[in-house]
Amino acid sequence: MSQATASQATAPATELEFNPRLNAETNFNAAADVLGLDQGVREVLRSPDREMTVNIPVLMDDKKLRCFIGYRVQHNFMRGPCKGGIRFAPDVNLEEVRALAAWMTWKCSIVGIPFGGAKGGVICDPKVLSEGELERITRRYTANIMDILGPDRDVPAPDVGTNEQTMAWIMDTYSMHVRQTATAVVTGKPLALGGSKGRREATGRGLMLAMREALKTMKGMPEKVRVAVQGAGNVGGIGAFLLHKAGHRIVALSDERGAIQDPNGLDMPKVLAWIEEQNRQPKEKRKFLDSYPGAEKLVPKEKLLEVDCDVLCPCAVENQITSKNVDRIKARLIVEGANGPTTPPADEVLDKRHIVVVPDILANAGGVTCSYFEWVQDRMGFFWSEDEVNTRLEQTLVTAFSEVHACAKKYGVSLRRGAYILALDRVAQVYKLRGLFA
Ligand code: NAD
Repeated sequence: MSQATASQATAPATELEFNPRLNAETNFNAAADVLGLDQGVREVLRSPDREMTVNIPVLMDDKKLRCFIGYRVQHNFMRGPCKGGIRFAPDVNLEEVRALAAWMTWKCSIVGIPFGGAKGGVICDPKVLSEGELERITRRYTANIMDILGPDRDVPAPDVGTNEQTMAWIMDTYSMHVRQTATAVVTGKPLALGGSKGRREATGRGLMLAMREALKTMKGMPEKVRVAVQGAGNVGGIGAFLLHKAGHRIVALSDERGAIQDPNGLDMPKVLAWIEEQNRQPKEKRKFLDSYPGAEKLVPKEKLLEVDCDVLCPCAVENQITSKNVDRIKARLIVEGANGPTTPPADEVLDKRHIVVVPDILANAGGVTCSYFEWVQDRMGFFWSEDEVNTRLEQTLVTAFSEVHACAKKYGVSLRRGAYILALDRVAQVYKLRGLFA
């Protein structure tokens, strides 16, 4: 009995639906079945190559010592160095980090960039920690996982709860240890430290491109659509802004505290400017969308998923479209900006209802693609214009979408299944070519 099925036998159904690792494995297994992958190869590709759990002792501002737990999971380095973000959140856990690391492997494979997947996490709440405490947590976490990091080993990036500043601290800590400035050890850095133009917008831009390509394949969809976006951070906030700029109407937007709506379309430049202004405020003064003064509130915020719209973009966290709410979803197209926002039981229902889903491993791959461009530029020591970055990003994502679409058509399956089949097949081929080191 596989690990997934062994734990499936004991856990209650609801708990199972919300376990991201099992969800990642469900999709993996379905694609492996279609490909007829050998059981041994399946086992190798499913299991993380390496997992590290570290204790992070930190002196807090009140001079008390506290220990935080951090993880780094390297899922697979068959195709190149590992790549994946670092999440700082109170509910981070190893199962989630494992899923996120595996998704990175498949994502890198889909967009054809020479990386494997990894992910990191630290159990902490960045909203209540001071800047100094965050810096000390980041630096000690980096020092503790230092042996498995490096431009040719494993290259972190930002995720929920981390940002450009976190990457700058990681880059500096790593560089101090290796006694040379190693810009390529992280991506999503500030421009002044070797960051790439266009990186901040890249995931949102990718979301917009994925939606554009999907719309081209659908019959009866208007050219300009009504979009609801869950999450107003790097992916959702910027994605919604770019979609608005492209002429679509953002009819609803939410964050962790509230949601706003306007059937005629929110004034996204104004909303984004307000969010950015809040992000500049000291933490105790920062407001969320439940306090946004210029639009009607949508209560409770979860209703966003069910509003009348053509396209739904879940861009916040995992497990949002589930067996509990899937029947009430009105969108005809779902473009997954977040990782793992749809559970497998909900996915089955969406498929039956002919709701098209552009899966996370394709729809949010703009971020890692641009991270790859950043890594390439750092290693060359030569930097591209924003136009060049955006052009290459568009080429990569348009190609990836059409390959996934063709694969889904070939096997008569959903885009999600098609994406997994394509991704697994590519990694399995590399595995076969390299052979087994013994
Ligand atoms: P972020 O921290 O910048 O933003 C997250 C947003 O989601 C915030 O607005 C937060 O308030 C909101 N949010 C949290 N819980 C919510 C809830 N229950 N309902 C509504 N909103 C909620 O994070 P991000 O970088 O935008 O990442 C969002 C998702 O996209 C994550 O799943 C992440 O793994 C994925 N992702 C991010 C990138 C990237 O480049 N940043 C790339 C690929 C995938």
